[in-house]
Amino acid sequence: MARIRSELARLPSLIFLAAFLLVCPLYSFSIKATPSFDSTDGDDEVNTWLSTNANRSTVKELIPSEYKKRYQKWKTEYLSASVGREQWERFALNPHFELTITFSKQQAHGAKVEFHWDDFGHLIAATILLGNKLDSGYPSAINYPITCSLSPGNLPPEVNGKILAATKLSHEFGHLNQVMSMDGRIYQMQNTVMLQYMRIFNGNGFNVHDPVLVALAEQMGGTPVSISQNREHWAEAGAIEYLQQRLPKLNKRSKIPNAVKDAIEAYQSTYGDRSQNL
Ligand SMILES: [Zn+2]
Repeated sequence: MARIRSELARLPSLIFLAAFLLVCPLYSFSIKATPSFDSTDGDDEVNTWLSTNANRSTVKELIPSEYKKRYQKWKTEYLSASVGREQWERFALNPHFELTITFSKQQAHGAKVEFHWDDFGHLIAATILLGNKLDSGYPSAINYPITCSLSPGNLPPEVNGKILAATKLSHEFGHLNQVMSMDGRIYQMQNTVMLQYMRIFNGNGFNVHDPVLVALAEQMGGTPVSISQNREHWAEAGAIEYLQQRLPKLNKRSKIPNAVKDAIEAYQSTYGDRSQNL
């Protein structure tokens, strides 16, 4: 009940976010990256930081040789933000956590993360799969309101493909943070029940009022659509932190482009500053 009340209290801001999403173009994954901006500012700093911490590194980076160059570029960009280094410290320099980063052609413009828990629901390992075309393509605004705001036309030319790739990488670390902070048994239960829900939903003529589906939704705390959206929106908090630090450094006026600023404000008016919970 308290939960329903707080959901209702959030309704105006959800409407605001929904209104914002409607004006953010729903790009398919066919848009090319904006032109490249060859800044190597900060690369030396990042390389020095990496070599200083090399003996603590626990991450397995399984990168095919053909993708090594681009991976290095995206990783360096991500680590040039202090929030990127904090995340790296938390997962890639952590002797109690097994992080693997690899490439997947299948992911193309996207990325995903696979989780591994112990029997008590603690996250102990994860694999981030990066698409080989991570530096281009924009996901839907509905689930990715922040990443979508980087679409061409919204941004000045200095915001190029490697910024987009690093934003997507920061989104994946956002997933890691959220899942790290919750009981993995709940997350796994949701995954199982969501499949069950979809099987019944597809077989009952898409009737969401089916009492069995209503009971399953109650059990997992939402419908498959709302749970998936909630997970993606959580992960976007990681992208916000990275962009807030990085974008002002890329132009002389030290500003975040308006489209990105508007997306962040719409997000925060709905969810508050989630980065503090990550
Ligand atoms: Zn995601």
